[in-house]
Amino acid sequence: AALETIAQRNPDLNALLSVLSDRALQQAAEVDARLAAGEPLRPLEGVPIVVKDNQCLAGTRTTCASNILANYTATYTATAVARLEAAGAVIVGKANLDEFAMGSSNENSAFGPVRHPLDATRVPGGSSGGSAAAVAAGMCLAATGSDTGGSIRQPASFCGIVGVKPTYGRVSRYGLVAFGSSLDQIGPMTRTVRDAARMLGVMAGYDVHDATSSLHPVPDYLAELEADLRGWRVGVVQEAFGAGLDADVEAAVREALKTYESLGATLVEVSLPHLGYAIADYYIIATAEASANLARFDGVRYGYRAPEATTVHDMYALSREQGFGPEVKRRILLGTYALSSGYYDAYYLKAQKVRTLLRRDFERAFEQCEVLMMPTAPTPAFRLGEKTDDPLQMYLSDIYTVTLNLAGVPGMSLPCGTSREGLPIGLQIVAPAFEETRMFQAGRALE
Ligand code: GLN
Repeated sequence: AALETIAQRNPDLNALLSVLSDRALQQAAEVDARLAAGEPLRPLEGVPIVVKDNQCLAGTRTTCASNILANYTATYTATAVARLEAAGAVIVGKANLDEFAMGSSNENSAFGPVRHPLDATRVPGGSSGGSAAAVAAGMCLAATGSDTGGSIRQPASFCGIVGVKPTYGRVSRYGLVAFGSSLDQIGPMTRTVRDAARMLGVMAGYDVHDATSSLHPVPDYLAELEADLRGWRVGVVQEAFGAGLDADVEAAVREALKTYESLGATLVEVSLPHLGYAIADYYIIATAEASANLARFDGVRYGYRAPEATTVHDMYALSREQGFGPEVKRRILLGTYALSSGYYDAYYLKAQKVRTLLRRDFERAFEQCEVLMMPTAPTPAFRLGEKTDDPLQMYLSDIYTVTLNLAGVPGMSLPCGTSREGLPIGLQIVAPAFEETRMFQAGRALE
């Protein structure tokens, strides 16, 4: 059924860059054989799942939606993806994204934009726009995304699904093509909170291949999913309801907050005083890390090599010039500048200090509440082309999401209503580090 829906909808939506029909049918046959043999059901037995195309799956193309990796076939499988397969999941395709996960609209893909499943004139969000569109359109039951500054939560919000960015270190980054290594996390994108809890439980946990993965035990998220919220304090982030917030988004989020009150929770006003610096902070740290991580794409080791180069230097320069798209180049330049001697102290070092202040903002806020809530994005899905001429405008739409990555804390976007135009709106629930259980409990209570 997933493959049929893909055949019907993918030509218009462009959500998937690879459809793994043969591989998926083979996996499905193995599932059938296991079931026929009376083997016990695994947690994701036979569940069709899409993997974002910046995550390696051995023997399949992993393009990062970039021309520089257009012909790259992964030689190994990302740990998070391998765990999904070991739990019985059937991988049906690889999802389109903004090139190297840099973007908020999926318009930065070298293989064309993804369209919003409900309105072809709009973007699905980004960078995990292909994953979000695939789930929303029924091409799969769940997808993986990656979130460096909102790339799971914002497209989930735009497409009306659930998206979770785990605590930094909760899920292994092994086999995820690095963007901002201190920010990146793989996470689930699903139709329900329960599905997200189940999927994270499978993907999470220590991995010997990722030194930043945590030894913190993985709770049984499903067993603790249903909770009585009476007595909970829900922190409402004051700074998140300021200028630039769309009226429909604000109304839907406030309505959801009222629901929490009716469930017995108390709303408390909390402050993240440094929220206003988060965008600037994120776009220095993320670009600095990206400029270092993307140095490996030089025409030698992976992917595209400019054919006309006659010297080693020309090979590096031409392969990168021809292989990377404009947004990726912009970020490499910004990041290289921020790290260059003479500017390092003023930009990168300062940004690290601001990052500490943001982390402390969250610590203080969580002294007053169990979870924090705010919108996921300031607007519903915008129109294709609306923000492409003005990168700064695009960056500003990440205001509510990037702070969590800078602080390392987990967050979930889940649907909380629709705009007057019928577009989905997402509520963002934030929990302290490694307290994903609370985030799932609060989310589940709203469904
Ligand atoms: N939109 C943000 C950016 O462009 C976040 C991307 C992400 O989380 N991968 O950097």
